Amino acid sequence: MKIVIMGPPGAGKGTQAKSISHKYSIPHISTGDIFRKNISEKTELGNRAKSYMDNGELVPDDITISLVVDRITQSDCKDGFLLDGFPRTTFQAVALDEHLKKNEDYLDAVILLDLPKKFILDRMTGRRVCTTCGASYHIKYNPPRVAGKCDVCGSAIIQRKDDIEDTVKERLEVYDLQTQPMLEYYNKRGILKNIDGTQSIDSVFQSICNVLNSMV
Ligand code: ADP
Ligand code: ADP
Ligand code: ZN
Repeated sequence: MKIVIMGPPGAGKGTQAKSISHKYSIPHISTGDIFRKNISEKTELGNRAKSYMDNGELVPDDITISLVVDRITQSDCKDGFLLDGFPRTTFQAVALDEHLKKNEDYLDAVILLDLPKKFILDRMTGRRVCTTCGASYHIKYNPPRVAGKCDVCGSAIIQRKDDIEDTVKERLEVYDLQTQPMLEYYNKRGILKNIDGTQSIDSVFQSICNVLNSMV
């Protein structure tokens, strides 16, 4: 199964992607996590991406597309993958399709976590993430079992630099202007699956499983 999970910042993509990846045994590929890892390791890719991310802007398409194409060409993606945070522009969506088409392949579904704006600031400013494994928590809605520590790997959990109010507002504008138009591209192809992202974490996961199970 080759799927994309998308939605505005804070919709719950990362949280759901971890569960989907586990249940359906497909690798979870998050462009945001890959960029953050490269920034913390001070690689060339990290240096190129950092200022865009800190300002809440998109990393340029050429950097991002080649990163994803390299990743999905690896052998663990042969039978499927789950892309989280990519594509984010119609240009990226077309590039992904063209890459897949070369191998007579295609996306099975694009899951859209739909969330009205009024929920977003609260989700983003309360988010805390693991510095090692990328697991995401929320101070109110999904706190870790031990304060400040990741349930999965025990590492420290921190607030992301781009999760402060001003940068969140910038990211929402970027979503409206650059990502939202991409929905029409997938809608026309009939593979866009709308999920109500305002439900509890468990209910959102159940809704996603219902959609994915109905496809196989
Ligand atoms: P995204 O990857 O779409 O930016 P995350 O999965 O990191 O979103 O979730 C954003 C924040 O909201 C996190 O703090 C997460 O714990 C919390 N969260 C995710 N899903 C829900 C939900 N259904 N209800 C309440 N809080 C949620
Ligand atoms: P969120 O989970 O809050 O939606 P991500 O972790 O997916 O955020 O992305 C964080 C940042 O990484 C984005 O604001 C952007 O700067 C960069 N980024 C991630 N994916 C892409 C992409 N497909 N194209 C361009 N920039 C990206
Ligand atoms: Zn962790």
